[in-house]
Order: sequence, then C-alpha cells, then structure tokens
Amino acid sequence: MSAPDWVIVGAGFTGAVVAERIASGLGQDVLVIDRRTHIAGNAYDEPHESGCLIHRYGPHIFHTNSKPVWDYLSRFTAWRPYYHRVLGMVDGCAVPIPFNLNSVRALFPPRMADRLSEALISRYGFGKKVPILKLRQEADPDLRFLGTYIFQKVFEGYTLKQWSLRPDQLDPSVTARVPVHVSRDDRYFQDTYQAMPEEGYTALFRRLLDHPRISVRLGVDWKSLSAAMPHARIVYTGAIDEFFDYEYGALPYRSLRFEPMAVAPHRGLPVGTMNFPNEFDFTRITDQRHLSGTPDGQPVLIHEYPEAHMPGVNERYYPVPTEASTALLQPYLKRAEELKGRVFFAGRLGDYAYYNMDQACARALTLFHKQIAAALPMAAE
Ligand code: FAD
Ligand code: UDP
Repeated sequence: MSAPDWVIVGAGFTGAVVAERIASGLGQDVLVIDRRTHIAGNAYDEPHESGCLIHRYGPHIFHTNSKPVWDYLSRFTAWRPYYHRVLGMVDGCAVPIPFNLNSVRALFPPRMADRLSEALISRYGFGKKVPILKLRQEADPDLRFLGTYIFQKVFEGYTLKQWSLRPDQLDPSVTARVPVHVSRDDRYFQDTYQAMPEEGYTALFRRLLDHPRISVRLGVDWKSLSAAMPHARIVYTGAIDEFFDYEYGALPYRSLRFEPMAVAPHRGLPVGTMNFPNEFDFTRITDQRHLSGTPDGQPVLIHEYPEAHMPGVNERYYPVPTEASTALLQPYLKRAEELKGRVFFAGRLGDYAYYNMDQACARALTLFHKQIAAALPMAAE
C-alpha cells in the first residue's frame, strides 16, 4: 500500500473496528499503526507459561446490552458464556460485590440482616440498583447505617487506592458502575450478553484486521509518521492531550502495575476476582483460569497495583473523571473540532471517556456511520 486513504492510530477496539468498517464497508485502504508491538490494545491476551490465556492489561470481561455491538463482534469470534463473579473482603469475610442482599446476610446477624434487607426492598424495590452515594444520603436510620457501612468498607479504601481520590471527588458515575444491588444476583454484570471470545481477544482482533485493504504496522508511533503524512485522514485513538503536545496541560490518567503468577491449586480463587478494599496495596486479584475457561487448570493470579501515570514510564489506563479534568478537556475538544473532517478522535483515550469495550466498539461504529461513511457520496453497507 503506497499512500493509504486512512491512517488509524491505535489497534485497540476503537481503531480496529473503524479500520474493518472502512476497509469492508467503503473499500478504502487503511493503515493501522500502534506503538505497542501487538494488536488488540488493552484487550490483548497471550498464553502464560503455565498454558493459561492471560490478559496482559488486566481482566477484560465482555458484557453488553447492545445487540448491534454483539452481532457485529460475533462475525469475528465465537463466544464462551461467562458470568463474572467478584468477592470483596469485608471484615475478614468474602462477600459478593456488587454488594447485595447476600452480602447483607453474610455480614450481619440474621434479624438485623432481615431488617436491613426489608428496608432496602421497601425503599427501592426488589431487583433495583442503587448508587452508593445515593444510599449514603438516605434519612431512614437503617438505610443510612447501611449506606455508611458499605461506603466505608467497600468503596472508600478501594477508591483511594485506585484513584488516589475519595469517592466524592470523582464524578458519581465512577462508583455508580458498581451499585448496591437489591437482589440475590451475585453476578458482577447483569447485561443481556456476557461472554468471552472463545479463542481470546487477540484472535478476535486478528480476524477484524484480516482484510486485503488493511495493513498493520506495529511498534510505530504516530509522531514518527505525522510529518510524512500532513494530509492523511486520521482516526486517532491515542491520548488527545498528547496529540496536541499538551498545549493546555496534561490531562490526568491513572495507571496500574500487573503482577501475574502461577500458584499451587489450593491458592486459586473460587471466583474470577477478589477485591481488597481495606487491606494491601493492590485493589484486586484475578484468577485468570476462570476467565480463560479452564476453571480446573492451574490458577494464575494477577494482582493489580494502582499507580500514578508517568508519561513514557507506564501506560494510561483510566481517564480520571472529575470536574477539573472535564474543564481541562474542553480546549482540546475545541482544537479537535477545528480538524473535523480530516482527523477524528475516538476511544477511551481519544475521547477521554471511561468506556467499556462494548462502548468503545459502539463509538467506533457510530463514528464510521455518522461521520465517515455519511460524508461520502455512496452509502456504506
Ligand atoms: P486502547 O485499547 O487503549 O487502544 C489504544 C491504542 O492506541 C493502544 O494500543 C496504544 O498503544 C495506541 N496508541 C496510543 N497513542 C499512540 C500513538 N501516538 N501512536 C501509535 N499508537 C498509539 N472493558 C470491558 O468492557 N470489560 C472489562 O472487564 C474491562 N476491564 C478493564 C480492565 C482494565 C485494567 C482496564 C485498563 C480497562 C478495562 N476495560 C474493560 C476497558 C477496555 O480496556 C477499553 O474499553 C478498551 O480497551 C478501549 O479501546 P480503545 O481502542 O479505545 O483503547
Ligand atoms: N469500587 C469500589 N470497591 C469495589 C469495586 C469498585 O470502591 O469493590 C469503585 C472504585 O472507585 C472503582 C469503581 O467503583 O474504581 C469502578 O469499579 P469497576 O470494577 O467498574 O472498575 P474497573 O473494572 O473499570 O477498574
């Protein structure tokens, strides 16, 4: 391919889906680059020396309520049904997270547990989900007690470790990702579609990018190509502040350090992940064999240690949703608007948005249909 019609910066979900759509839907040539030496972005998985497939950048569980996203990705992978379950260590007791009626029963004496459960059910209704910051504000003494208890034992310490911020310093949507659940459903997610790609995420990405009009160059930073391609049309899924050379200051990101280790069978976890809100420097441990469909195999534990993001030293994993970061983002969005039609920003880093994989995929499909294909005279598939 000499001069591609499009350069896609980043081979994660956002970049790979846009690339596939442009190549298959419009028949145009696409060059996908990534500065990492592999495709799949943060969803990348690879075999561990123990044989278990592990996620290099932390546990990735696919879940969505979007049928279009599910149907689209199903063209590139078969699925293995998987319900993620998480236990959190509270007062030495491993209880279901999101905190639910089973957690109440596990932690309180029976009559007290009944009273607290009834208070939750009569206030919100069975099956409802309640953000912790809302529960904490209740006037009813039982609900207020429970709200304070869950806030202190489940959210406060974990959030401080994960973000180096208190829950109320973050946008409420962050802790609302894991609401208190007025039910006995112990699954971490309740989405209609929950599954893992049968052969893993990297295999899914190989198929997404396997098209004669797509070429992939790895270990290549956009910075090293940009001068040679001043007129290229670009979909940029890297960090928007980096693209503009941090002109208005660096947006905050949070990073993580992952420590994988194979352990003896008796040290394996009974569920996919255990959270440690109150002890240790790590936030959670994931036993990859559950995610990889080999629950009876050798356990491979991955500890996650939150870290400040240090450019060039570690990766940007999480945008940090606060009022200050939203304000700092605005001038970058304005600059992006000026490049509209030639450079499109998208994805967790390009939009500076706390997307899950399905949301990144949905964002890529919408970008393609509404902005890329719609600008062409002939409608795309
Ligand atoms: P990325 O996957 O980050 O891809 C962007 C790519 O761009 C990267 O590969 C990067 O190397 C490349 N890049 C950046 N700048 C440049 C440059 N200048 N030049 C070249 N290349 C560049 N989602 C779920 O749905 N379920 C989960 O269970 C889940 N768990 C997660 C756990 C962790 C620890 C983390 C961090 C995320 C998790 N996610 C999960 C979110 C998921 O990782 C994202 O939704 C998804 O990866 C976003 O895809 P993306 O393409 O926008 O970004
Ligand atoms: N959270 C918490 N305790 C928990 C689980 C989650 O305080 O046991 C809070 C914490 O602030 C975390 C956020 O809820 O960052 C979102 O959790 P989620 O599991 O969705 O985070 P991710 O998987 O994206 O790291």
